[in-house]
Amino acid sequence: MDLAFTAEQEELIRTLRAFARKELAPRSAHWDRTGEFPWDAWRLMGELGLLGLRVPAAHGGQEADYLTFGIAMEEIARGDFACTYGIQLAGLAGEILGRNGGEEVKARWLPPTARGEAVVALALTEPGVGSDAGNLACRAERDGDGYVITGEKSGISLGMAAQAAIVFALTEARPARARGVSAFLVPLDLPGVARSPLRDLGTRAVGRAVLAFDGVRVPGSHRLGAEGSGFQQVMQGFDYNRIGIALACLGVAQVSLEETMAYVKERRAFGRAIAQFQGVSFPIAEAQTHVDACRWLCYRALWLADRGERHTKESAMTKWWAPRLAVDTIHQCLLLHGHYGYTDELPFEQRMRDVIGLEIGDGTAEVMKMVVARELMGRESLPY
Ligand SMILES: Cc1cc2nc3c(=O)[nH]c(=O)nc-3n(C[C@H](O)[C@H](O)[C@H](O)COP(=O)(O)OP(=O)(O)OC[C@H]3O[C@@H](n4cnc5c(N)ncnc54)[C@H](O)[C@@H]3O)c2cc1C
Repeated sequence: MDLAFTAEQEELIRTLRAFARKELAPRSAHWDRTGEFPWDAWRLMGELGLLGLRVPAAHGGQEADYLTFGIAMEEIARGDFACTYGIQLAGLAGEILGRNGGEEVKARWLPPTARGEAVVALALTEPGVGSDAGNLACRAERDGDGYVITGEKSGISLGMAAQAAIVFALTEARPARARGVSAFLVPLDLPGVARSPLRDLGTRAVGRAVLAFDGVRVPGSHRLGAEGSGFQQVMQGFDYNRIGIALACLGVAQVSLEETMAYVKERRAFGRAIAQFQGVSFPIAEAQTHVDACRWLCYRALWLADRGERHTKESAMTKWWAPRLAVDTIHQCLLLHGHYGYTDELPFEQRMRDVIGLEIGDGTAEVMKMVVARELMGRESLPY
């Protein structure tokens, strides 16, 4: 058993922490207020290799291990949470396109994604279907050598900035649930595509959108993998991605705790530093205990993933626990800053708003607990 990071991983942590502090943190509030998409930060992340972590080397990526992906999510989140969506979505695009895309599609989309010059969104959720993602209504009907896609996708991260999306649609007339779902790479400048923005509580720079497809024709070469394999493709990616999301949430919680520890040693009340009151120090001690425990669960899950072992249960555990824990921790940090904590001059209110989104996105806590229960007790624990 060895719970230490390697010297190389420690160096990566130092580099990314410095980058997040210098390049991202000072601009995070601006991106939140304006909702501006941070293309220049994307390019900088591309230069650092963060957007090609799961992209094949032949297409300009790093083919990094899952642990590196987790470190990147945790460290970048310390500077700006919205930017971690870049790492996770470029990672999912790299993984799904890399494994299932034809050569033409991979050559067109993967290198610019890895460089931070293109954004590929992932469009699964629909207005009528989220948690029950195997029950889609969007259809892709065969038309000569291509397909015609009709339907609507809702809540799609980076949907306003993306040039393309991986769209999941039914290719069977009477599908046996998820087995009828296929994946397509759809350039968003094709005729018949429309998009409209959602006004979110947090991570406003992410620009979530509703994407509408009205008879959008894509060539057969844009289908990813075999017909009917779409659901499996996205679920494989979710297993490791959820751990990255958990680490991003913990990164925000950790930086908030560090800032709060510094503050309570300086701030005085009743003639002494407030750190000397156990009503102040004990919540910090408790929060740090929970964050440490959850963080090591995440790294163990990534270690399992890198060994090629099943990690579905651990992944779902981290995904319900970490966002909730981060919200609670940041809330506590906000309160310990007194009335200053409640203002937008300090980052806590934004961080809380940002992290809440991932209590829902990529699977709610309830759905994650269903997965944990299924892994523990078998399908007899499922409601269907
Ligand atoms: C910040 C953010 C980013 C997102 N990014 C993307 C993206 O990039 N691409 C994409 O495709 N989607 C994205 N989504 C959508 C997201 O995946 C869905 O919102 C999520 O899966 C939940 O689906 P829903 O919103 O339809 O809620 P519903 O499925 O309608 O659920 C509503 C409530 O019912 C509960 N519920 C449902 N079924 C059960 C059950 N069996 N047992 C107990 N409780 C249950 C849920 O937990 C939830 O509390 C994003 C969402 C957010 C908030």
